[in-house]
Amino acid sequence: MERAPGEGWKVALIAVALGGLLAGLGLRLTGRADLAALVWSLGVLPVLGTLVREIVESLRRGDVGLDIVAALSMSAALATGEALAAAVVAVMYAGGTFLESFAEGRARREMAGLLARVPRSATRHRNGALEEVALDAIAPGDRLLIRQGDVVPVDGTVAAGSAFLDTSALTGESLPVRLAAGDEAMSGSTNSGEAFDLLATRRAKESTYAGIVRLVEAAQASRAPMARLADRWALGFLAVTVAIAAAAWWGTGDPVRAVAVLVVATPCPLILAVPVALVAGLSRAAEYGVLVKGAKPLEAMARIRTLILDKTGTLTDGRPQIVAIERLGSAGETEILRLAAALEQASKHPVAQAVVAAAVARGLALPVPSEVAEIPGEGVAGRVEGRAVVVGGHGFVRERLGLEPEPAPEGAVGAVLVAVAVDGRLAARLVMADPLRPDVAATLQALRQEGVGRILLATGDRADVAEHVTRGLGFDALRAELKPDQKVLLVLTERKDGPVMMVGDGVNDAPALAAADVGVAMGARGAAASAEAAEVVLLVDRLDRLCAGMEIARRARGIALQSVVAGIGLSVLGMVAAALGYLQPVEGALLQEVIDVAVILNALRALRVVPRRIAVAAAHPAGAAAAA
Ligand code: ADP
Ligand code: MG
Repeated sequence: MERAPGEGWKVALIAVALGGLLAGLGLRLTGRADLAALVWSLGVLPVLGTLVREIVESLRRGDVGLDIVAALSMSAALATGEALAAAVVAVMYAGGTFLESFAEGRARREMAGLLARVPRSATRHRNGALEEVALDAIAPGDRLLIRQGDVVPVDGTVAAGSAFLDTSALTGESLPVRLAAGDEAMSGSTNSGEAFDLLATRRAKESTYAGIVRLVEAAQASRAPMARLADRWALGFLAVTVAIAAAAWWGTGDPVRAVAVLVVATPCPLILAVPVALVAGLSRAAEYGVLVKGAKPLEAMARIRTLILDKTGTLTDGRPQIVAIERLGSAGETEILRLAAALEQASKHPVAQAVVAAAVARGLALPVPSEVAEIPGEGVAGRVEGRAVVVGGHGFVRERLGLEPEPAPEGAVGAVLVAVAVDGRLAARLVMADPLRPDVAATLQALRQEGVGRILLATGDRADVAEHVTRGLGFDALRAELKPDQKVLLVLTERKDGPVMMVGDGVNDAPALAAADVGVAMGARGAAASAEAAEVVLLVDRLDRLCAGMEIARRARGIALQSVVAGIGLSVLGMVAAALGYLQPVEGALLQEVIDVAVILNALRALRVVPRRIAVAAAHPAGAAAAA
């Protein structure tokens, strides 16, 4: 069982150490020096005991931490009769762990803010009256009244008129968005305009907000394996410290010199600064709608050199439109669309949702499909009103029909082609336009400036589509017609040359996201499987947030490193001064205290990182509109 000291224990330790220090000072001032030394020593023992127990536990796990220096300096100070210095170090150490919780709490505030607003009930229209219902009781189709200031409880659409929604808590988007009747309203946003009616489309549990809340909770729970950047340096620092202390002792024959060195070396800032800076980075990223699930992925994100992007839903906005239906048999367009859409109701793929939306827009009533089998990223097969229907990519549908594989037909340039088979025969091809997101070019350029050297496209779609949509964007390589496991293989291959980030959406990308050093899921619409598999979730369906996230990660890591280097540098200077006899143990302990505070304040700077790229990208659409 983990036996990390609890909050109460920490406070007790500080109280004892501080009490001992002050009482000892009082005794010393009243001329009772020998009693003062005893009181100081007694105040140190509980702190030292707790620390030694923790060190033994971590050594058993094979970790050599910097805590050892703190334990050494306290015991050495006690052994040489420098009780006051020992007491200062004890207060500082006990206070340091407390400061850490405080700084972490401060740093996590924004993430906690995401969770604070979960509504408990909603107001529902029922038989001409209004009733208050629990969130779990809301079913798709319910008509809910959303008053001004209410948090939208479930995903839905605006029933009539228009609505103004403030999504800033989720996405950092400061301007409220105006929605017209029929537009999708995301749960978790706040009604900043007049009251409006919402038609629920998902249950509370399946809604976007519930998904975000689950992700944030998981991210907060995963705090244990902090990236121990400082501990990687621990052995070296420990060796240098002991060497300087030993040299001082040997050179002067005075053990107090060695104690002074150890006391200055007590490396609280190194132990604290890194987690504080990284957690502050997490918090900052969350404010921009970039949910990073822990300090480790944040640190990894700062080191990414290769980026692999999925096409449909990532590079494109994933809301394809049917532009034509090319009939290949006798069945009529409407009938083909009705059958295909009925089957696609079973799939979450963006293409599937687009087909369903097109059918609903034409007023078609869709029967419930049966015997449905989906191969993620390839297509779906099943029965609709007793007829066998297959919808999906060209290769998938031919395979299902038992036809020889044949090169995909050249479609209209850049269009996504979806084949539909009914009763064992090819019935039609749906030609779909799936335009790129407007900010793709700017985003890719910004990512290169963030240090990403290699950018690849990995798509399940055909090569000619991939080539067409990425023309002029400067991709280093295109890989088309990939199945989900082939995307995994691509990620693994690229990882041989350095850390890889994979950005994707949907169930079919989940394995590749999990295989990458950092997996990034686009959007958290609904409760997406990709968001569970990924280390980073872009809560806003916007690619430019990727740059903001990378920039925050890079700068938070930079601040962490800077704190470590400055902290170690100052400590080493102090150690040399102590070895040469310029610092007494007590002065050394006080100096180290000052370094501590300075370094932690520096680490908290990561809370104020403002990504530059986001402003550029946000200004982009407005600029384009003005130019047009
Ligand atoms: P990408 O890798 O670019 O995101 P996907 O692998 O998600 O693309 O999908 C590739 C192709 O597979 C789509 O263009 C489409 O033709 C087909 N496809 C996959 N799933 C479905 C589905 N549920 N319905 C229709 N077509 C599908
Ligand atoms: Mg995709």
